[in-house]
Amino acid sequence: MPELPEVTVIAEDVRSLAQGMEVTRAAIFRDDVSNAGVEGFGERLVGKTLRGTGRRGKIITLDFGDVVGVIHLVISGRVLRLPGWREPDKIHTAVVEFGGGEEPLVLAFTRLWLGYFDLYEPDAVDEHPLLKRLGPDPFSDAFTPEYLRGVFKRKASIKGLLLDQSVVSGLGNIYVDEVLFEAKVHPTRKANTLTSVEIRAIYSATRDILGRAIELRGTTFDSYHDAFGETGKFQYQLKVFTHAGESCPVCGTEIQKLRVAGRGTHVCPVCQPL
Ligand SMILES: [Zn+2]
Repeated sequence: MPELPEVTVIAEDVRSLAQGMEVTRAAIFRDDVSNAGVEGFGERLVGKTLRGTGRRGKIITLDFGDVVGVIHLVISGRVLRLPGWREPDKIHTAVVEFGGGEEPLVLAFTRLWLGYFDLYEPDAVDEHPLLKRLGPDPFSDAFTPEYLRGVFKRKASIKGLLLDQSVVSGLGNIYVDEVLFEAKVHPTRKANTLTSVEIRAIYSATRDILGRAIELRGTTFDSYHDAFGETGKFQYQLKVFTHAGESCPVCGTEIQKLRVAGRGTHVCPVCQPL
């Protein structure tokens, strides 16, 4: 599933391709792709100009002035640039055509039957079920070691808390494993046992790793590609995720795979002692 870096890259790509262009056609495959429904989706988007794009946690937002697109790409969802208009189908579940450039630009938002392309009034975006409970963004001013100290007073595992979007928004399984390895904290540690030094290390590793992953345009294992169809490059920088059975790049110990918070979890038992 695209996490913060991949969603950042896609939102930025859509902005660079379509900002300032006007929607000339828009359609979805079936009603459950958008809260606007098949009829309302085109009616509400056609004639609107894309003013900008953004990201909230793992959600892409498209600013059309008095309408905001709220897009959740799940599992293998992508944004693809198509050579021309095509009617939506079960792969290309939402298709939007922009005019006003030298030639029409057609973007398909794929496999949204588990995600969505909802349309909201700007004032109501914060009421979206997935947005209203989002914790601070790792790059916002609200994300500080002091904030983490407060939310880490619970007994839950540190991995479970970092995956919880109401604690920190945007992290998923890949980046949490990498952050905890860099911070030298075992994923099963109870958050309320962490020292100030460890909390600061988690804070720094989160910003550092997400920042580098954005620079390398995300992590591709199978389906993730940017809106230009290119893969990310951060998979070559991963130190533990997908490296179970291989040697730890720091100490040479074999990397283990465990199950923590219901997710496959990669850990070096020496660098991340319990
Ligand atoms: Zn190690």
